Amino acid sequence: MVSVAAVVLEESPTVLVRAGNMGANGYAGYLTGRVQTKTRLAAMLAPPARLQTVTAPAVCLGVAVFLEFVMLSNLDPARSDFGAVAGFASLLGLVIAALTCVILVRKRKLSASGPIAERARALWRRCWYCRRCGVVTLAMTGGSNQTLPAHGLARTLVAIARTKLH
Ligand SMILES: [Zn+2]
Repeated sequence: MVSVAAVVLEESPTVLVRAGNMGANGYAGYLTGRVQTKTRLAAMLAPPARLQTVTAPAVCLGVAVFLEFVMLSNLDPARSDFGAVAGFASLLGLVIAALTCVILVRKRKLSASGPIAERARALWRRCWYCRRCGVVTLAMTGGSNQTLPAHGLARTLVAIARTKLH
């Protein structure tokens, strides 16, 4: 038996991809990049997803509000660029409204399912995989182990986390 986390790590190797060509002028050009691959087993045993935080949209909102403030303070009907500035300011207003919606939706999701998602990830760290049987064992405190199907493990763990919390 090996921990599911170790299996996923081992079965998700990062490979170096290198593409090269000889240019017409005789110079060789190379493009290298790292790509994380994933076997079917790693995809099957993948950890439950972490919920999206509000950090990124909040930073974007801060920048957008600042720009909007600059834009509005430069809004002068007497200036020749009035139309362009007004247009951009209203476009930015839409962006601000959209970002606010994203933040509110994510906040609601986080408060509703955040603890479940975290609990499911904690359960995942206590899962063991048997390569011979292809079965996952969830090691519970107190020695009562639970056998789970490897297929769709994350979904099963979220379901368990939900029943444990309520
Ligand atoms: Zn076995």
